[in-house]
Amino acid sequence: MPIDATLPYDDDNIFAKILRGEIPCSKVHEDEWAFAFHDINPQAPTHILVVPKGRYVSWDDFSARASDAEIAGFVRAVGRIARDHGLVEPGYRLLANIGGHGGQEVPHLHVHLFAGHPLGPMLT
Ligand code: C5P
Repeated sequence: MPIDATLPYDDDNIFAKILRGEIPCSKVHEDEWAFAFHDINPQAPTHILVVPKGRYVSWDDFSARASDAEIAGFVRAVGRIARDHGLVEPGYRLLANIGGHGGQEVPHLHVHLFAGHPLGPMLT
């Protein structure tokens, strides 16, 4: 069920629990700003979710409230994960769903990283 991205942050959301180590995940990266793990229901041969460490509901919330250091740290982490997995060539796709029309289901910002085969045209 897609979320309302204007609601306040919910500390009981599933990615908050993953960040606190209360729910297991297949972790691929962690640093000061970001945490990443394999999506439990992969939509491509490689499907990684990258989440900021801070309490942000969506890309909208993050871009409005996060510090420049948080934003830079998160963006650099996404790129680093792709490079560490050897994805720059042949390439990969980043996607962030935002709110109801975006199809966002989990109310903690996450960027989907898809790779591993040609991904075809973008969905609309
Ligand atoms: O962008 P959206 O909110 O729709 O995506 C949520 C993603 O979180 C889904 O791809 C889902 O498979 C993933 N998920 C996960 N581990 C969980 C719960 C959801 O990887 N425990």
